[in-house]
Amino acid sequence: MFQSDLTEKFQSLKTPYYYYDLGLLNRTLDEIKTHGLEKGYHVHYAIKANFNFPILEEIRKAGLGIDCVSGQEIDRAIEAGFKPNQIAFAGVGKTDDEIQKGLDTGIFSFNCESLQELDVLNELAEMSGKTANVSIRLNPNVEAKTHKYITTGLSENKFGINISKLPELFLMLPKLNSIRLTGIHFHIGSQITDLKPYHDLCEKVESVQQLFEEAGVKLDHINVGGGYGIDYDKPDQNPIPDFKAFFEVFDKNLKLRDGQQLHFELGRSIVGQCGSLISKVLFVKEGIATSFAVIDAGMTELIRPALYQASHRVDVLTSDRPAETYDVVGPICETSDTFRKGVQLPAVQRGDLVAIRSAGAYGEVMSSGFNLRERVNAYYSTDLT
Ligand SMILES: *Cc1c(COP(=O)(O)O)cnc(C)c1O
Repeated sequence: MFQSDLTEKFQSLKTPYYYYDLGLLNRTLDEIKTHGLEKGYHVHYAIKANFNFPILEEIRKAGLGIDCVSGQEIDRAIEAGFKPNQIAFAGVGKTDDEIQKGLDTGIFSFNCESLQELDVLNELAEMSGKTANVSIRLNPNVEAKTHKYITTGLSENKFGINISKLPELFLMLPKLNSIRLTGIHFHIGSQITDLKPYHDLCEKVESVQQLFEEAGVKLDHINVGGGYGIDYDKPDQNPIPDFKAFFEVFDKNLKLRDGQQLHFELGRSIVGQCGSLISKVLFVKEGIATSFAVIDAGMTELIRPALYQASHRVDVLTSDRPAETYDVVGPICETSDTFRKGVQLPAVQRGDLVAIRSAGAYGEVMSSGFNLRERVNAYYSTDLT
């Protein structure tokens, strides 16, 4: 990924900062076009994964829509040039203001997560003299086989409406005059690398479709969400997820009805590999059992290791000395501010530059001001070459 001629440019910039390879992003988008869009599928990029304008620009040009989970994300999507009818809006806790924003913007679909939300949406739509397009987010009780904090499709998770509530929904629907039910929506979790959960999801979708048919409710679209994972261990060997295999699962196992459209909401798999957090070694400290490489980036810039026990590959850009074992840690006053434990790296010294890889998704967007840290800069391959 990193040509050595970049290292010199990297060294001239104040660390830490995010670096995004737009070339890789575009090659990733090309795969989605080939295996998804060209089959007539609709892909909404989950903007929460990374909302930087240069990234949104490439995604928009590739023909994807947007999946939002807040009113501000709707604003951002519109500002980035996406059309209202490309925007899906999910979230268990939409405020009245956010619902109003969706109504005023005229979005493609509200992905409703509870029966109470449907009532509120109906009321707000009625007051505005509008009809809201609604997709019901259902909780399919499918095990995503991922970290428990990013599993969303189990009955015990807060997301979606339990399938057992469908009879209640069917009774409500005729009374909701300002709502047009257009589809059903699922999202079972994130960083899913095994395709089995998606096979399970296809089965669930079929049985749910039958329930809707029995109730005489026609569905224009099926939205199966996102969650496809990336290879955090080997970003250079697997820079682009296998989208052919991913879309094929749905091709082969999901029976769409006449005229029905299939929608996806991918986040991490689109932007995860194109971003790196570049940081400098401040100190190398000999511990009792291990050596600490203390770097100038911390959980304030990339919280995934602290929050999800995630592991990101660390590359040393400026050393080819013989390997030693390190705990790579940040400067923040938390023990969980640790990027790697016991990792073998070329021996580092003060001033060496490291790249924390696969940080394009849920990295910069989750940065915080803890310890009064400043927001870091972002640079793009197009700025540096
Ligand atoms: C976060 C989210 C996504 C995207 O998840 P990824 O794992 O990044 O693909 C899609 N749909 C909804 C509703 C989400 O909340």
